[in-house]
Amino acid sequence: MLETLRHIVQEVNTARSLNEALEIMVRRVRDAMNTQVCSVYMREPASGRHVFRATEGLNQELVDEVSLAAGDGLVGLVAERGEPVNLEDAENHASYRFLPGIGEEHYHAFLGVPIIHQRGVLGVLVVQQEERRRFDESDEAFLVTLSAQLAGVIAHAQVTGEVETRAITGQDPAKISGVPGAPGIAIGTAVIVSPGADMYTVPAREASHPRKEVRAFREALQSVQKDIRRVADNLGSELSPEDHALFDVYLSILDDSTIGAEVVGLIRSGQWAQGALSQVMIEHIRHFERMEHSYLKERAVDVKDLGTRVLAYLQAANQEVRVYPDKTILVGEELTATSLGEIPREKLAGLISVRGSGSSHVAILARAMGVPTVMGAVDLPYTRLQDREVIIDGYNGTVHLNPLPEIKQRFQEVVDEDTALSRDLEALRDEPCVTLDGHRTPLWVNTGLMADVTRSLEQGAEGVGLYRTEVPFLLRDRFPSEEEQRQIYREQLEAFSPKPVTMRTLDIGGDKALPYFPIEEDNPFLGWRGIRVTLDHPEIFLAQVRAMLKANEGLGNLRIMLPMVCNVSELDEAMDLIHRSHRELRQDGLTGDLPPIGVMVEVPAAVYQARTLARRVDFLSVGSNDLTQYLLAVDRNNARVADLYHSLHPAVLQALLEVAVVSRDEDVPIGICGELAGDPGGAVLLLAMGYDVLSMNATSLPKVKKALRDVQLSEAQQLLEEVMAMVYVGDINKRLEEFLTEHGMEKFIHSPVE
Ligand code: PEP
Ligand code: MG
Repeated sequence: MLETLRHIVQEVNTARSLNEALEIMVRRVRDAMNTQVCSVYMREPASGRHVFRATEGLNQELVDEVSLAAGDGLVGLVAERGEPVNLEDAENHASYRFLPGIGEEHYHAFLGVPIIHQRGVLGVLVVQQEERRRFDESDEAFLVTLSAQLAGVIAHAQVTGEVETRAITGQDPAKISGVPGAPGIAIGTAVIVSPGADMYTVPAREASHPRKEVRAFREALQSVQKDIRRVADNLGSELSPEDHALFDVYLSILDDSTIGAEVVGLIRSGQWAQGALSQVMIEHIRHFERMEHSYLKERAVDVKDLGTRVLAYLQAANQEVRVYPDKTILVGEELTATSLGEIPREKLAGLISVRGSGSSHVAILARAMGVPTVMGAVDLPYTRLQDREVIIDGYNGTVHLNPLPEIKQRFQEVVDEDTALSRDLEALRDEPCVTLDGHRTPLWVNTGLMADVTRSLEQGAEGVGLYRTEVPFLLRDRFPSEEEQRQIYREQLEAFSPKPVTMRTLDIGGDKALPYFPIEEDNPFLGWRGIRVTLDHPEIFLAQVRAMLKANEGLGNLRIMLPMVCNVSELDEAMDLIHRSHRELRQDGLTGDLPPIGVMVEVPAAVYQARTLARRVDFLSVGSNDLTQYLLAVDRNNARVADLYHSLHPAVLQALLEVAVVSRDEDVPIGICGELAGDPGGAVLLLAMGYDVLSMNATSLPKVKKALRDVQLSEAQQLLEEVMAMVYVGDINKRLEEFLTEHGMEKFIHSPVE
């Protein structure tokens, strides 16, 4: 059964449209359950009616032609109850409604299960049989399991199908929801970043020179054929005659007269080679996947492998220097810090990533760079967007295609308002961050890229609360040497000198994998991350610490900070290594003192051990991004649970307050370097909790300064008291918005453009 389930889900997953998905579903379910009828009724959101959308066994001619009102018929009953209905004799049930013409009068047994996605009923899946009998428990369990698995696939196919037909082909407006990545509005041209050779992500594009494309395709084909022959020759006598025959099959698949001819045909009709190849190969893969015979089914893998190889050659030959249009909006399946590094900053207007969430590191970098970003736009048919005009609303996490002129105009107005607001805030650049009643809070910045330095200084940063040293590591193809690191760190320290610069030791793992040091894990955020990696590799840690200490020579503004500490022993070990490096360098002639050493409080264990940690270090800094993820058990990189990730959750606020109280008791300075510090409302609460330093992305700094300069500490404390008594995140958010509005900061609140 499990195997059958898996195959059905896999097959439905490969469908290109909702219709195809539903057709595969009814056909395969009817066969798997050995019954006579399987149909799907889909709920029409506007009317609530259930439309007869696909069938195997009833009258296909009435598909899309007949429907039942909300709550009507057995289908309506299943949807209303949100539970299966299993009947021996359907027509005798009070809810039974006869739909003339669909031909169900011969069928007595009825089993209907709801298709539920994200708490809403999308439709109803029904099986029917002539024999008067109840479907048995295992049938019911099978259908429920299948429906639960298919709900996500159907929802996705429904939205993307709609966007495809209305917005891509039909040029109608469409709005696709994701999650906010970095604030701001961007109006620009989509440029698709495809990851290495992956046929499923090749953007559709026209061939500018079909002849050249055909030539390139043939060359790629020949290269792969040559590779295969070489492999076969190398293996030579180790292969049995059957294995040799398999290589011949591979070669024949690529034969110019079969698949090759189809690809060439498509190129001649105007597709570029990569697109034509992908389209043809994917069709053949589907064909094999649908076969019943398991040996033939397995051949789908071979076809995929061959297609990928040809694509890789095509991509390698096509590596012309990419010309980015002005106002490029970079769109990709999973954008990374590296993809950001490839495009000139002045061309980059926005980012859209199909995967990831607002707390992913690429989003954090985007915020630092001030690039509006939408993450987790899972329903975006992004491979179809090349060169299309798109609008990104990074405040609300939406992407707009073909907007109506008045909507586009409204977005343009928001862009203009934002520009005016930034200009107003510029006037505060050299003003201190001090409340109306004279409480001073230094505002620092989080940095990583070299570009952050200029931006930060322009925004009036008074120090660096978090220099993410992993960023320069991410942008290379090997570990930087100690001397290379020394130079990079020196540049940071010099740029801010005499202002303090807090360098965090390497924090890789989680969603920050170095391309040259891959870490493959099932639960990367609970795995080998941060200090766990560097303590297991003291040579990496020591080289980094030495580079930092040397870079600090003659400047003295370095602070060292340790990430992801969960055990006091980790802190002790790391401190030992830092002391040892310092001692050894002193013996070699270094003159600088040991810099202040601090620890990040970003896991619940550190919250509960904050006092012990505080007694061992010179400062504490809360990493609210990870602390939120670990306290709420919400993967910060997972778009599916992004709406559960709230740094203003009462439990997070409680933890933040407790750490602040402990640090005050222990007389150890406390800062925060998570994104919450860059949220004007959040910053007011942190001020009231007693945080000594707020460190944030440079883009947020002017807004936070404005927010804190326009309030009294006593008002903030009053607000904190109110908020700490609240139990719902929604109420907390609402109260903070009200507070900002009462203090003339309604411009910091961005409602969706409708
Ligand atoms: C944090 O976790 O809050 C933090 C500042 O570190 P990062 O976002 O780099 O994990
Ligand atoms: Mg962190």
